[in-house]
Amino acid sequence: MSGPVVIVGAGQAGYALAATLRKAAPERPVTLVGDEPHAPYERPPLSKALMQPEAPLEPPYFLPPAAWAERGVALLMGRRALRIDPAARLLHLDDGSALPWQDLVLATGGEARRLAVPGAELLLPLRRLGDVAPIRAAMAPGRRLALVGGGVIGLELAATARALGAEAMVIEAAPCIMARALPPAERDWLEGLHRAQGTRFVLGAALAAVEPAGQGVALVLADGRRLPADVAVAGVGLARNTALAAQAGIALRTGILTDAFGRTSAPGIWAAGDVAEPAFPGMAEPLPAESYHAALDQGQALARTLAGTPTAYPRVLRWWTEQFGLNIQAAGDWRAAAGFETEGDRAGGSFAVTGRNAAGRPVFAMAVNAPRRLRPLVTEITATFAATEHQTA
Ligand code: ADP
Repeated sequence: MSGPVVIVGAGQAGYALAATLRKAAPERPVTLVGDEPHAPYERPPLSKALMQPEAPLEPPYFLPPAAWAERGVALLMGRRALRIDPAARLLHLDDGSALPWQDLVLATGGEARRLAVPGAELLLPLRRLGDVAPIRAAMAPGRRLALVGGGVIGLELAATARALGAEAMVIEAAPCIMARALPPAERDWLEGLHRAQGTRFVLGAALAAVEPAGQGVALVLADGRRLPADVAVAGVGLARNTALAAQAGIALRTGILTDAFGRTSAPGIWAAGDVAEPAFPGMAEPLPAESYHAALDQGQALARTLAGTPTAYPRVLRWWTEQFGLNIQAAGDWRAAAGFETEGDRAGGSFAVTGRNAAGRPVFAMAVNAPRRLRPLVTEITATFAATEHQTA
């Protein structure tokens, strides 16, 4: 393998792949194509550091933009890939040019999912640098921020808003926050933390419409309640950018289906990061990852594969968040746990939770202000899942 690698999508996965490939396979030409105008930047600060009123609205770059050329990666920013020609191994771009590839990586991520209610376009997304300013306008005392969705984005923005003295209201369709990622006791802990800091929750809420109201909006619920806000954000998950893959006839589910190494159904075409849905041997369902860690891990693994050392994607999901100054990291699948144990000082804000399956092996871990505690547990959870037939819900 020595031919060109073309990567579509300059998010976390595209960045990790390009940067790692440079070192792992210096002989392979690498081109990174992205439709945002900026060189690759980190997204986690968008909901935290960049929401601070005095923070400059500049991309938190992974690498100084000039470093890419020094490393020999061709960056094509502000450029959209329009069409793949799998037979000719060409990628057609919106400026009329076509890039030849030996390996093509789709790291196209996703957009904030739009809700299908009238007025949903009044709900702001948070995915990109350009989304920050209008949300930040609500991050001040006396301002009211509404967050539709009690997942990571909604809760991080609520925590940031409260810390800056704004009102924060989380409107969640499920009866609880963070249902996918955290077991009941830890959701309750996180909700309690928010309530103590003044976040308001409307749980089990059926959002029926969003309407303009004065300078802001009103969130109208199916039971007739009208909840006013100056700014409302929707953090209700991801709509994966699969159009390019679909046009090329690549197998899809909600994302691009891959094997454990990121291989799609088309020869020489791979997928990594939020857009990928890798299937692992012994797992009932593919495992869409949707996390910063997964994008970085998959990008790095795929770089090794494309450098000639086949390296599978991690099959244990890891994610992290920061809220009210607490670093919360978690890994694994809490649904596979038969019981949980806690060590450390929950009230003091530094503790770890381990979930074990019926055989007593770790399947889930969460560490709050204790990141070093998580690492060995991730290794153990990986060993559990490697040793057992594991089903994700
Ligand atoms: P994100 O990365 O956008 O925060 P998550 O998957 O972490 O995504 O969380 C999305 C949250 O949005 C979930 O808690 C989910 O139950 C909630 N949700 C989905 N649809 C709606 C809806 N129509 N109204 C309110 N909350 C919703």
